[in-house]
Amino acid sequence: MFPMALENNNSHHGTAPPLGLLKLCSGLGTACHRVVAAILPVLCLSLFVGGIACAQPLHITEQYGGPLGKHAGFLVERDGPLRLSQAYQAWQNGWFAPGSHPIASFGIGSRPVWMQLALHNDTSESAPRILTLGKTWMDHLHVYLLQDGRVLHAWKSGDAHAATADLVPGMGYRLPLQVPPGHSQIFIRAQTADPFVLSVSLRSARDTAAAARGVQYGYSVLFGFLVALICYNLMLYLGFRSRSYLYYALYLVSFIAMCIAYSGHGFAWWWPLEVGFQRFVILVLMVVYGCCGFLFACCFLKLGEHAPQVRRWVIATCAAALMLMTYFVGRGSQWDAALLAFNFVTFFSVAMVLLGVLSIRHGQREGRYFLGAALCSMLGVAATTLSVRGVIPMSTLTFHGVEFGMMLEATLLSLALARQMRAQKNALLHAQRLSRIDPLTGLPNRRAFREDASGIWGTAVRHGRPLSVIVLDIDHFKSVNDLHGHQFGDQALLAVSELLAGFCRKGDRVARWGGEEFVLLLPETNLVQACQVAERLRRAVANCRLAAGTATIRLSISLGAAQRNSQASLDALLCDADQKLYEAKQQGRNRVAPCGDFDYAV
Ligand code: GH3
Ligand code: MG
Ligand code: MG
Repeated sequence: MFPMALENNNSHHGTAPPLGLLKLCSGLGTACHRVVAAILPVLCLSLFVGGIACAQPLHITEQYGGPLGKHAGFLVERDGPLRLSQAYQAWQNGWFAPGSHPIASFGIGSRPVWMQLALHNDTSESAPRILTLGKTWMDHLHVYLLQDGRVLHAWKSGDAHAATADLVPGMGYRLPLQVPPGHSQIFIRAQTADPFVLSVSLRSARDTAAAARGVQYGYSVLFGFLVALICYNLMLYLGFRSRSYLYYALYLVSFIAMCIAYSGHGFAWWWPLEVGFQRFVILVLMVVYGCCGFLFACCFLKLGEHAPQVRRWVIATCAAALMLMTYFVGRGSQWDAALLAFNFVTFFSVAMVLLGVLSIRHGQREGRYFLGAALCSMLGVAATTLSVRGVIPMSTLTFHGVEFGMMLEATLLSLALARQMRAQKNALLHAQRLSRIDPLTGLPNRRAFREDASGIWGTAVRHGRPLSVIVLDIDHFKSVNDLHGHQFGDQALLAVSELLAGFCRKGDRVARWGGEEFVLLLPETNLVQACQVAERLRRAVANCRLAAGTATIRLSISLGAAQRNSQASLDALLCDADQKLYEAKQQGRNRVAPCGDFDYAV
């Protein structure tokens, strides 16, 4: 009674074609009525048990939007492959367990599983429906549509076979069915060495197309967002030459590559005939993704500086994972490769969180963003896993948690990188500011003075305007230090610098020239006016009282003043003023020596 299509299909499992169960029944019906009478109650009982074990039939006119795992019955093959007739018999015996989750999940390297769905078409015509089976990485998928024990349709696919148009990236394998009027059943045999995740939906062609469009839009947004981030980070790398951006772009590229592989986009579009490549590409890319993530973390969190030991461990783990994966691929051991890939990625998720915590403990501010990003990614993975397991309700958000988590992670890490860039820029500005300022007095230093003064000098020369400088030095400052201590000397320097800054008009420049020597640049000021300023300064310092313990200290300064006239440069003008300062010291200190023969009015 089972047609040839079934026989041919089952031969794929390397088993002999079965005798049709109903043929057996019809034989019994004609030949031995008494035996039939004897086994009928048993058959009825087993069908009754089966009816309890398996869920209610799906009414074809009703809408079942999501995966149908809760409406199905499941049987794990224990002792070798089952033929369809055996699976059918097992179902009739009530050996199929009812599904408890919308998506059936049996872990990595599970035995092959049979799934049974009862359908009821209460119309008088066949109903066209699309059966969608995922995930796209399932190795073997055999589907049979049965009515009254007859196989109406048999079909096989999975990524152990070259990809055909049946493969819809992001969704799974699409099988058009004509569901006959009355009761019918779908039997599915699924087998994979990768994680066994079987999501089965039955929808109209229009609903299937809408669902596929939704999935493709989702992936377009995800890939578009990530590609934009990659370009942005590569440009930042080219601009700033900071390797964090390069490694981050690499990490994102590895995630996209992994997504393209596990969503089936790669197999459907790029390598539909490379079945051997498809067996390992997802698993290899998972390890590569983890390694790229660790590479980025090492660089971004500066593990080499803060935790060199941890960095060595991370590198050793990555190297070991890559070598092991190469070995498993070389040996063709898909199960080992799958175990390694999933354990490595789990370890990676947890390790990224721990690295975030470590960096916060080391006082790195970026660590908070990094930890937030790692937690988002981990929560995303957890949401997907828990929704598939039925622990939390399945929705677009929870089922695609991995992708949403990655988008959040990518956003937070980009913010972290931007923050790092801002911190580096601020540190640079701060360093530039410090390089122009004298740390003790807060006055501009010699370098800043030169930069500012050269512009003022140039303006004065161009417009023939007067310009003067005063160079001053604290008298006997060495003895002040010797008698009252270096700390008091510092306070004295600070007091003089504050006095000087207070004396400056808008447009004047004052700087610490070095040691206990200061310089003032006075635009629009001739020598007479400069000497007046110098004299007022001298007096102000002389009148100043500084408390050193119980004693009161008085300081004095000597000053040299010069006006721009025939000097060729600012340095020459400063040299003239310095010469006069020397003369002031020679003449007994605490005085002003002008560069010119005149008596300045005091
Ligand atoms: P003169 O009147 O000839 O200028 O004598 P002086 O002692 O002031 O000159 P000298 O060049 O012999 O000594 C300068 C002293 O200034 C020596 C040095 O320790 C002190 N000095 C330079 N910079 C600082 C500083 O930043 N803080 C303190 N406390 N002392 C400084
Ligand atoms: Mg001195
Ligand atoms: Mg000196």
